[in-house]
Amino acid sequence: MISFERVTKRYPDGTVAVNELSFTAPDGAITVLVGPSGCGKTTSLRMVNRLIEPTEGRIAIDGTDVRARPAAELRRSIGYVIQHAGLFPHRTIADNIATVPRLLGTDRRTARARAHELMELVGLDPSLAKRYPYQLSGGQQQRVGVARALAADPPVLLMDEPFSAVDPIVRKGLQEEFLRIQGEVAKTILFVTHDIDEAIKLGDKIAVLREGGILAQFDSPERLLAEPADEFVEQFLGRDRGIRRLTFYTSTGLSLQEGPVVASDTPAPSARDAALSAGTPWLLIVDADRRPLGWADPAGLPDQGPVGNARLTGFGHAFVPGADSLRAALDAAVLSPTGWAVGTDAEGRVLGVISQEAIGSAIRAAHAQASTERERAAEKAAAADESAKGEPAAEAAAGTGADPAGSDAPPSDEVPLEQAR
Ligand code: ADP
Ligand code: MG
Repeated sequence: MISFERVTKRYPDGTVAVNELSFTAPDGAITVLVGPSGCGKTTSLRMVNRLIEPTEGRIAIDGTDVRARPAAELRRSIGYVIQHAGLFPHRTIADNIATVPRLLGTDRRTARARAHELMELVGLDPSLAKRYPYQLSGGQQQRVGVARALAADPPVLLMDEPFSAVDPIVRKGLQEEFLRIQGEVAKTILFVTHDIDEAIKLGDKIAVLREGGILAQFDSPERLLAEPADEFVEQFLGRDRGIRRLTFYTSTGLSLQEGPVVASDTPAPSARDAALSAGTPWLLIVDADRRPLGWADPAGLPDQGPVGNARLTGFGHAFVPGADSLRAALDAAVLSPTGWAVGTDAEGRVLGVISQEAIGSAIRAAHAQASTERERAAEKAAAADESAKGEPAAEAAAGTGADPAGSDAPPSDEVPLEQAR
Protein backbone atom coordinates (compact mmCIF):
# COMPACT_ATOMS: atom_id res chain seq x y z
CA MET A 1 0.00 0.00 0.00
CA ILE A 2 1.37 3.37 -1.00
CA SER A 3 -0.18 6.38 0.67
CA PHE A 4 0.15 10.00 -0.33
CA GLU A 5 -0.69 12.20 2.62
CA ARG A 6 -1.22 15.85 1.66
CA VAL A 7 1.86 15.82 -0.51
CA THR A 8 2.94 19.12 -2.05
CA LYS A 9 5.89 19.74 -4.33
CA ARG A 10 6.99 23.28 -4.99
CA TYR A 11 10.00 23.55 -7.30
CA PRO A 12 12.64 26.18 -6.47
CA ASP A 13 11.28 28.46 -9.21
CA GLY A 14 7.93 28.54 -7.43
CA THR A 15 6.07 26.07 -9.70
CA VAL A 16 3.59 24.08 -7.66
CA ALA A 17 3.78 20.72 -9.45
CA VAL A 18 1.78 18.73 -6.89
CA ASN A 19 -0.74 20.29 -4.55
CA GLU A 20 -1.83 18.59 -1.29
CA LEU A 21 -2.21 15.24 -3.00
CA SER A 22 -3.80 12.50 -0.90
CA PHE A 23 -4.77 9.00 -1.99
CA THR A 24 -3.91 5.39 -1.20
CA ALA A 25 -2.77 2.88 -3.80
CA PRO A 26 -3.94 -0.54 -2.56
CA ASP A 27 -1.72 -3.64 -2.37
CA GLY A 28 -1.45 -5.94 -5.34
CA ALA A 29 -3.36 -3.54 -7.58
CA ILE A 30 -2.63 -1.13 -10.40
CA THR A 31 -3.27 2.49 -9.47
CA VAL A 32 -3.06 4.84 -12.43
CA LEU A 33 -2.16 8.53 -12.23
CA VAL A 34 -3.66 10.18 -15.28
CA GLY A 35 -4.01 13.76 -16.43
CA PRO A 36 -2.88 16.23 -19.06
CA SER A 37 0.78 16.99 -19.63
CA GLY A 38 2.37 19.04 -16.85
CA CYS A 39 -0.18 18.13 -14.17
CA GLY A 40 2.46 16.63 -11.86
CA LYS A 41 2.29 12.90 -12.64
CA THR A 42 6.02 12.33 -13.04
CA THR A 43 6.78 14.51 -10.03
CA SER A 44 4.33 12.47 -7.92
CA LEU A 45 5.86 9.18 -9.02
CA ARG A 46 9.44 10.28 -8.45
CA MET A 47 8.63 11.36 -4.92
CA VAL A 48 7.84 7.72 -4.09
CA ASN A 49 11.38 6.52 -4.82
CA ARG A 50 12.85 9.82 -3.66
CA LEU A 51 14.30 10.93 -6.95
CA ILE A 52 12.39 14.07 -5.92
CA GLU A 53 11.65 15.10 -2.33
CA PRO A 54 8.26 16.55 -1.38
CA THR A 55 8.08 20.08 -0.01
CA GLU A 56 5.26 19.15 2.36
CA GLY A 57 3.35 16.05 3.35
CA ARG A 58 4.40 12.45 3.51
CA ILE A 59 4.52 9.36 1.32
CA ALA A 60 4.42 6.00 3.07
CA ILE A 61 4.78 2.44 1.85
CA ASP A 62 2.90 0.04 4.11
CA GLY A 63 2.73 2.79 6.69
CA THR A 64 6.45 3.57 6.76
CA ASP A 65 7.62 6.96 5.54
CA VAL A 66 9.78 6.50 2.43
CA ARG A 67 12.31 8.85 4.08
CA ALA A 68 12.90 6.34 6.87
CA ARG A 69 15.35 4.40 4.72
CA PRO A 70 18.46 5.48 2.81
CA ALA A 71 17.35 6.49 -0.70
CA ALA A 72 19.57 3.99 -2.53
CA GLU A 73 18.27 1.10 -0.45
CA LEU A 74 14.68 2.26 -0.91
CA ARG A 75 15.14 2.39 -4.69
CA ARG A 76 16.40 -1.18 -4.84
CA SER A 77 13.11 -2.28 -3.30
CA ILE A 78 11.07 -0.39 -5.89
CA GLY A 79 10.97 -1.31 -9.58
CA TYR A 80 11.03 1.69 -11.91
CA VAL A 81 10.05 1.66 -15.58
CA ILE A 82 10.22 4.76 -17.75
CA GLN A 83 9.39 5.81 -21.31
CA HIS A 84 11.95 4.57 -23.88
CA ALA A 85 12.79 1.91 -21.28
CA GLY A 86 15.89 3.81 -20.06
CA LEU A 87 18.14 0.81 -20.63
CA PHE A 88 21.90 1.00 -20.21
CA PRO A 89 23.10 1.11 -23.84
CA HIS A 90 26.51 -0.46 -23.18
CA ARG A 91 25.11 -3.49 -21.35
CA THR A 92 23.55 -6.59 -22.88
CA ILE A 93 19.86 -7.32 -22.38
CA ALA A 94 20.65 -9.98 -19.78
CA ASP A 95 22.97 -7.63 -17.89
CA ASN A 96 20.40 -4.84 -18.03
CA ILE A 97 17.78 -7.11 -16.49
CA ALA A 98 20.23 -8.41 -13.88
CA THR A 99 21.30 -4.91 -12.77
CA VAL A 100 19.55 -4.76 -9.41
CA PRO A 101 20.05 -8.41 -8.40
CA ARG A 102 23.79 -7.93 -9.08
CA LEU A 103 23.80 -4.76 -6.97
CA LEU A 104 22.10 -6.74 -4.22
CA GLY A 105 24.92 -9.29 -4.32
CA THR A 106 23.31 -12.10 -6.34
CA ASP A 107 26.06 -14.09 -8.09
CA ARG A 108 26.41 -13.74 -11.85
CA ARG A 109 25.09 -17.19 -12.74
CA THR A 110 21.96 -16.90 -10.61
CA ALA A 111 21.31 -13.38 -11.93
CA ARG A 112 21.66 -14.58 -15.54
CA ALA A 113 19.27 -17.46 -14.90
CA ARG A 114 16.82 -15.04 -13.36
CA ALA A 115 17.18 -12.75 -16.39
CA HIS A 116 16.27 -15.61 -18.72
CA GLU A 117 13.28 -16.52 -16.58
CA LEU A 118 12.07 -12.89 -16.69
CA MET A 119 12.57 -12.64 -20.43
CA GLU A 120 10.17 -15.52 -20.82
CA LEU A 121 7.72 -13.92 -18.40
CA VAL A 122 7.59 -10.69 -20.43
CA GLY A 123 7.38 -12.56 -23.74
CA LEU A 124 10.94 -12.10 -25.01
CA ASP A 125 12.90 -14.88 -26.66
CA PRO A 126 15.86 -15.66 -24.38
CA SER A 127 18.03 -15.82 -27.52
CA LEU A 128 17.99 -11.99 -27.37
CA ALA A 129 19.87 -12.05 -24.04
CA LYS A 130 23.26 -11.27 -25.55
CA ARG A 131 22.07 -8.39 -27.70
CA TYR A 132 22.41 -4.71 -26.88
CA PRO A 133 19.39 -2.43 -26.50
CA TYR A 134 19.87 -0.73 -29.90
CA GLN A 135 19.44 -4.16 -31.53
CA LEU A 136 15.85 -4.43 -30.23
CA SER A 137 12.60 -2.80 -31.37
CA GLY A 138 10.94 -0.16 -29.19
CA GLY A 139 8.35 -2.65 -27.98
CA GLN A 140 11.02 -5.22 -27.11
CA GLN A 141 13.01 -2.59 -25.22
CA GLN A 142 9.92 -1.76 -23.15
CA ARG A 143 9.58 -5.44 -22.27
CA VAL A 144 13.20 -5.46 -21.14
CA GLY A 145 12.42 -2.39 -19.03
CA VAL A 146 9.57 -4.26 -17.34
CA ALA A 147 11.74 -7.36 -16.84
CA ARG A 148 14.51 -5.26 -15.29
CA ALA A 149 12.05 -3.62 -12.91
CA LEU A 150 10.79 -7.05 -11.81
CA ALA A 151 14.24 -8.62 -11.46
CA ALA A 152 14.70 -8.14 -7.73
CA ASP A 153 11.04 -9.08 -7.18
CA PRO A 154 10.22 -5.73 -5.56
CA PRO A 155 6.79 -5.41 -3.93
CA VAL A 156 6.30 -2.00 -5.53
CA LEU A 157 6.56 -0.95 -9.16
CA LEU A 158 6.58 2.61 -10.50
CA MET A 159 5.87 3.00 -14.20
CA ASP A 160 6.07 6.37 -15.95
CA GLU A 161 4.38 6.31 -19.38
CA PRO A 162 6.10 2.99 -20.11
CA PHE A 163 4.14 2.31 -23.29
CA SER A 164 3.71 5.85 -24.62
CA ALA A 165 6.57 5.80 -27.11
CA VAL A 166 5.50 2.71 -29.08
CA ASP A 167 2.97 2.53 -31.90
CA PRO A 168 -0.69 1.76 -31.10
CA ILE A 169 -0.67 -1.91 -32.09
CA VAL A 170 2.50 -2.78 -30.19
CA ARG A 171 1.13 -0.75 -27.32
CA LYS A 172 -2.07 -2.75 -27.17
CA GLY A 173 0.00 -5.94 -27.06
CA LEU A 174 2.19 -4.57 -24.27
CA GLN A 175 -0.85 -3.54 -22.24
CA GLU A 176 -2.41 -6.97 -22.51
CA GLU A 177 0.87 -8.67 -21.69
CA PHE A 178 1.29 -6.34 -18.73
CA LEU A 179 -2.13 -7.28 -17.33
CA ARG A 180 -1.29 -10.96 -17.76
CA ILE A 181 2.03 -10.53 -15.92
CA GLN A 182 0.36 -8.55 -13.14
CA GLY A 183 -2.12 -11.44 -12.83
CA GLU A 184 0.88 -13.61 -11.96
CA VAL A 185 3.02 -11.27 -9.88
CA ALA A 186 0.34 -9.08 -8.19
CA LYS A 187 2.64 -6.13 -7.48
CA THR A 188 1.55 -2.84 -5.95
CA ILE A 189 1.85 -0.62 -8.99
CA LEU A 190 1.71 3.12 -9.56
CA PHE A 191 1.32 3.68 -13.29
CA VAL A 192 1.50 7.08 -14.96
CA THR A 193 -0.10 7.86 -18.31
CA HIS A 194 -1.69 10.83 -20.10
CA ASP A 195 -3.96 8.44 -22.00
CA ILE A 196 -7.35 7.98 -20.34
CA ASP A 197 -8.15 4.84 -22.35
CA GLU A 198 -4.95 3.23 -21.14
CA ALA A 199 -5.87 4.29 -17.58
CA ILE A 200 -9.32 2.70 -17.87
CA LYS A 201 -7.95 -0.47 -19.40
CA LEU A 202 -5.17 -1.01 -16.86
CA GLY A 203 -6.28 0.68 -13.65
CA ASP A 204 -7.91 -0.94 -10.66
CA LYS A 205 -7.97 2.58 -9.27
CA ILE A 206 -7.50 5.83 -11.13
CA ALA A 207 -6.31 9.18 -9.78
CA VAL A 208 -7.23 11.94 -12.23
CA LEU A 209 -4.99 14.98 -11.81
CA ARG A 210 -5.60 18.42 -13.17
CA GLU A 211 -3.25 21.29 -13.92
CA GLY A 212 -1.43 22.46 -10.81
CA GLY A 213 -1.14 18.93 -9.43
CA ILE A 214 -4.60 18.87 -7.90
CA LEU A 215 -6.46 15.59 -7.49
CA ALA A 216 -9.73 15.85 -9.42
CA GLN A 217 -11.06 12.36 -8.67
CA PHE A 218 -9.89 9.05 -7.23
CA ASP A 219 -12.10 6.11 -8.16
CA SER A 220 -12.41 2.78 -9.92
CA PRO A 221 -12.61 3.08 -13.72
CA GLU A 222 -16.24 2.05 -13.65
CA ARG A 223 -17.12 4.74 -11.09
CA LEU A 224 -15.15 7.32 -13.01
CA LEU A 225 -17.15 6.59 -16.15
CA ALA A 226 -20.41 6.45 -14.23
CA GLU A 227 -19.95 9.60 -12.21
CA PRO A 228 -17.23 12.02 -13.17
CA ALA A 229 -16.72 14.40 -10.24
CA ASP A 230 -16.84 17.55 -12.33
CA GLU A 231 -16.74 19.00 -15.81
CA PHE A 232 -12.97 18.68 -16.08
CA VAL A 233 -13.08 14.94 -15.45
CA GLU A 234 -16.04 14.54 -17.78
CA GLN A 235 -14.21 16.39 -20.56
CA PHE A 236 -11.06 14.42 -19.92
CA LEU A 237 -12.93 11.10 -20.11
CA GLY A 238 -14.16 12.03 -23.58
CA ARG A 239 -17.00 10.58 -25.60
CA ASP A 240 -19.05 7.41 -25.29
CA ARG A 241 -18.74 7.25 -21.53
CA GLY A 242 -21.96 5.24 -21.19
CA ILE A 243 -20.95 2.64 -23.74
CA ARG A 244 -17.42 2.35 -22.33
CA ARG A 245 -18.84 1.79 -18.87
CA LEU A 246 -20.58 -1.36 -20.10
CA THR A 247 -17.14 -2.97 -20.36
CA PHE A 248 -17.30 -3.36 -16.58
CA TYR A 249 -20.61 -5.24 -16.58
CA THR A 250 -20.63 -8.99 -17.08
CA SER A 251 -22.86 -10.66 -19.65
CA THR A 252 -23.26 -13.71 -17.40
CA GLY A 253 -26.85 -12.96 -16.41
CA LEU A 254 -28.25 -12.47 -19.92
CA SER A 255 -31.00 -14.98 -20.60
CA LEU A 256 -30.50 -16.37 -24.06
CA GLN A 257 -33.38 -17.88 -26.01
CA GLU A 258 -32.90 -21.29 -27.56
CA GLY A 259 -36.26 -21.38 -29.37
CA PRO A 260 -35.14 -19.46 -32.47
CA VAL A 261 -32.05 -21.68 -32.91
CA VAL A 262 -32.77 -24.31 -35.58
CA ALA A 263 -30.57 -27.02 -37.10
CA SER A 264 -30.01 -26.64 -40.85
CA ASP A 265 -31.48 -30.07 -41.63
CA THR A 266 -34.85 -29.22 -40.02
CA PRO A 267 -37.69 -29.35 -42.63
CA ALA A 268 -38.47 -25.76 -43.60
CA PRO A 269 -42.30 -26.00 -43.28
CA SER A 270 -42.17 -27.30 -39.71
CA ALA A 271 -39.59 -24.64 -38.68
CA ARG A 272 -41.79 -21.97 -40.29
CA ASP A 273 -45.01 -23.12 -38.63
CA ALA A 274 -43.34 -23.38 -35.22
CA ALA A 275 -41.77 -19.91 -35.56
CA LEU A 276 -44.97 -18.26 -36.77
CA SER A 277 -47.07 -19.77 -33.99
CA ALA A 278 -44.47 -18.77 -31.36
CA GLY A 279 -44.15 -15.27 -32.83
CA THR A 280 -40.40 -15.70 -33.38
CA PRO A 281 -39.25 -12.89 -35.70
CA TRP A 282 -36.03 -14.58 -36.83
CA LEU A 283 -34.53 -18.06 -36.88
CA LEU A 284 -30.82 -18.64 -36.41
CA ILE A 285 -29.78 -21.59 -38.55
CA VAL A 286 -26.92 -23.69 -37.16
CA ASP A 287 -24.90 -26.57 -38.60
CA ALA A 288 -24.55 -30.06 -37.10
CA ASP A 289 -21.90 -28.68 -34.68
CA ARG A 290 -24.24 -25.86 -33.61
CA ARG A 291 -22.07 -23.27 -35.33
CA PRO A 292 -24.07 -20.32 -36.66
CA LEU A 293 -24.75 -20.20 -40.42
CA GLY A 294 -27.05 -17.17 -40.60
CA TRP A 295 -30.52 -15.78 -39.95
CA ALA A 296 -33.67 -16.79 -41.80
CA ASP A 297 -36.97 -14.90 -41.96
CA PRO A 298 -39.61 -17.54 -41.00
CA ALA A 299 -42.23 -16.06 -43.30
CA GLY A 300 -39.87 -16.44 -46.26
CA LEU A 301 -39.03 -20.11 -45.71
CA PRO A 302 -39.70 -22.47 -48.64
CA ASP A 303 -42.53 -25.02 -48.63
CA GLN A 304 -40.17 -27.95 -48.89
CA GLY A 305 -36.61 -29.02 -48.18
CA PRO A 306 -34.42 -28.25 -45.14
CA VAL A 307 -34.15 -24.72 -43.67
CA GLY A 308 -30.46 -24.80 -44.57
CA ASN A 309 -31.48 -24.28 -48.22
CA ALA A 310 -33.22 -20.98 -47.46
CA ARG A 311 -31.58 -17.64 -48.21
CA LEU A 312 -29.67 -16.73 -45.03
CA THR A 313 -28.60 -13.33 -43.73
CA GLY A 314 -25.14 -13.07 -42.07
CA PHE A 315 -25.15 -13.05 -38.28
CA GLY A 316 -22.35 -10.49 -37.74
CA HIS A 317 -20.22 -11.50 -34.79
CA ALA A 318 -21.12 -13.50 -31.70
CA PHE A 319 -20.34 -12.90 -28.03
CA VAL A 320 -19.40 -15.36 -25.29
CA PRO A 321 -21.67 -14.98 -22.22
CA GLY A 322 -19.59 -14.71 -19.07
CA ALA A 323 -16.29 -14.14 -20.84
CA ASP A 324 -17.47 -11.02 -22.68
CA SER A 325 -18.90 -7.83 -21.22
CA LEU A 326 -22.35 -6.33 -21.75
CA ARG A 327 -20.60 -3.94 -24.12
CA ALA A 328 -19.58 -6.85 -26.36
CA ALA A 329 -23.10 -8.31 -26.20
CA LEU A 330 -24.67 -4.98 -27.13
CA ASP A 331 -22.15 -4.54 -29.92
CA ALA A 332 -23.04 -7.96 -31.32
CA ALA A 333 -26.74 -7.01 -31.30
CA VAL A 334 -26.17 -3.58 -32.83
CA LEU A 335 -24.08 -5.05 -35.64
CA SER A 336 -26.48 -7.91 -36.29
CA PRO A 337 -28.80 -7.26 -39.25
CA THR A 338 -31.70 -8.61 -37.20
CA GLY A 339 -30.95 -6.70 -33.99
CA TRP A 340 -30.45 -10.01 -32.20
CA ALA A 341 -27.09 -11.04 -30.78
CA VAL A 342 -25.77 -14.58 -31.01
CA GLY A 343 -24.25 -16.05 -27.85
CA THR A 344 -21.79 -18.92 -28.24
CA ASP A 345 -19.52 -20.94 -25.97
CA ALA A 346 -15.76 -20.45 -26.19
CA GLU A 347 -15.61 -22.95 -29.06
CA GLY A 348 -18.13 -20.98 -31.11
CA ARG A 349 -21.12 -23.30 -30.60
CA VAL A 350 -24.40 -21.44 -30.33
CA LEU A 351 -25.95 -21.23 -26.85
CA GLY A 352 -28.85 -19.00 -27.83
CA VAL A 353 -29.84 -15.56 -29.08
CA ILE A 354 -30.94 -12.34 -27.40
CA SER A 355 -32.56 -9.15 -28.65
CA GLN A 356 -31.22 -5.61 -28.34
CA GLU A 357 -34.24 -4.81 -26.16
CA ALA A 358 -33.46 -7.64 -23.74
CA ILE A 359 -29.84 -6.48 -23.52
CA GLY A 360 -31.15 -2.95 -22.87
CA SER A 361 -33.17 -4.24 -19.90
CA ALA A 362 -30.11 -6.07 -18.60
CA ILE A 363 -28.10 -2.84 -18.81
CA ARG A 364 -30.73 -0.96 -16.80
CA ALA A 365 -30.77 -3.77 -14.22
CA ALA A 366 -26.98 -3.67 -13.98
CA HIS A 367 -27.05 0.09 -13.44
CA ALA A 368 -29.64 -0.31 -10.70
CA GLN A 369 -27.62 -3.05 -9.02
CA ALA A 370 -24.43 -0.98 -9.19
CA SER A 371 -26.10 1.96 -7.52
CA THR A 372 -27.62 -0.25 -4.81
CA GLU A 373 -24.18 -1.71 -4.10
CA ARG A 374 -22.74 1.79 -4.00
CA GLU A 375 -25.36 2.93 -1.50
CA ARG A 376 -24.74 -0.11 0.68
CA ALA A 377 -20.99 0.53 0.61
CA ALA A 378 -21.54 4.19 1.52
CA GLU A 379 -23.81 3.20 4.43
CA LYS A 380 -21.22 0.69 5.63
CA ALA A 381 -18.46 3.30 5.42
CA ALA A 382 -20.59 5.80 7.31
CA ALA A 383 -21.32 3.21 10.01
CA ALA A 384 -17.61 2.37 10.28
CA ASP A 385 -16.82 6.08 10.61
CA GLU A 386 -19.41 6.39 13.32
CA SER A 387 -17.98 3.49 15.34
CA ALA A 388 -14.41 4.77 14.86
CA LYS A 389 -15.45 8.03 16.48
CA GLY A 390 -16.41 6.04 19.55
CA GLU A 391 -12.88 4.62 19.80
CA PRO A 392 -10.40 7.45 20.15
CA ALA A 393 -7.60 4.96 20.84
CA ALA A 394 -7.82 3.55 17.33
CA GLU A 395 -7.57 7.00 15.84
CA ALA A 396 -4.56 7.86 17.94
CA ALA A 397 -2.83 4.66 16.87
CA ALA A 398 -3.51 5.35 13.21
CA GLY A 399 -1.92 8.75 13.50
CA THR A 400 1.31 7.70 15.23
CA GLY A 401 3.54 10.66 14.88
CA ALA A 402 6.92 8.93 15.25
CA ASP A 403 8.58 9.98 12.03
CA PRO A 404 12.19 8.88 11.96
CA ALA A 405 12.76 10.80 8.75
CA GLY A 406 11.50 14.10 10.03
CA SER A 407 14.99 15.34 10.75
CA ASP A 408 16.50 14.00 7.54
CA ALA A 409 17.53 16.84 5.32
CA PRO A 410 16.17 16.04 1.86
CA PRO A 411 18.92 15.50 -0.69
CA SER A 412 19.03 17.43 -3.94
CA ASP A 413 15.94 17.10 -6.10
CA GLU A 414 17.32 15.15 -9.01
CA VAL A 415 19.38 12.03 -8.55
CA PRO A 416 20.55 10.46 -11.79
CA LEU A 417 19.12 7.00 -12.26
CA GLU A 418 22.48 5.40 -12.96
CA GLN A 419 23.81 6.66 -9.65
CA ALA A 420 20.60 5.73 -7.87
CA ARG A 421 21.04 2.12 -8.84
P1 ADP B 1 3.65 15.46 -15.95
O1 ADP B 1 4.50 14.28 -15.70
O2 ADP B 1 2.25 15.32 -15.48
O3 ADP B 1 3.67 15.89 -17.39
P2 ADP B 1 5.59 16.86 -14.32
O4 ADP B 1 5.47 16.24 -12.99
O5 ADP B 1 6.74 16.48 -15.15
O6 ADP B 1 4.22 16.69 -15.11
O7 ADP B 1 5.64 18.44 -14.13
C1 ADP B 1 4.67 19.15 -13.38
C2 ADP B 1 4.96 20.63 -13.45
O8 ADP B 1 6.19 20.90 -12.79
C3 ADP B 1 5.09 21.17 -14.85
O9 ADP B 1 4.56 22.46 -14.87
C4 ADP B 1 6.58 21.20 -15.06
O10 ADP B 1 6.93 22.21 -15.98
C5 ADP B 1 7.08 21.53 -13.69
N1 ADP B 1 8.43 21.01 -13.42
C6 ADP B 1 8.83 19.71 -13.56
N2 ADP B 1 10.13 19.58 -13.18
C7 ADP B 1 10.53 20.80 -12.78
C8 ADP B 1 11.75 21.34 -12.25
N3 ADP B 1 12.83 20.54 -12.06
N4 ADP B 1 11.79 22.65 -11.96
C9 ADP B 1 10.72 23.45 -12.15
N5 ADP B 1 9.53 23.01 -12.60
C10 ADP B 1 9.43 21.72 -12.92
MG1 MG C 1 5.58 13.05 -17.07
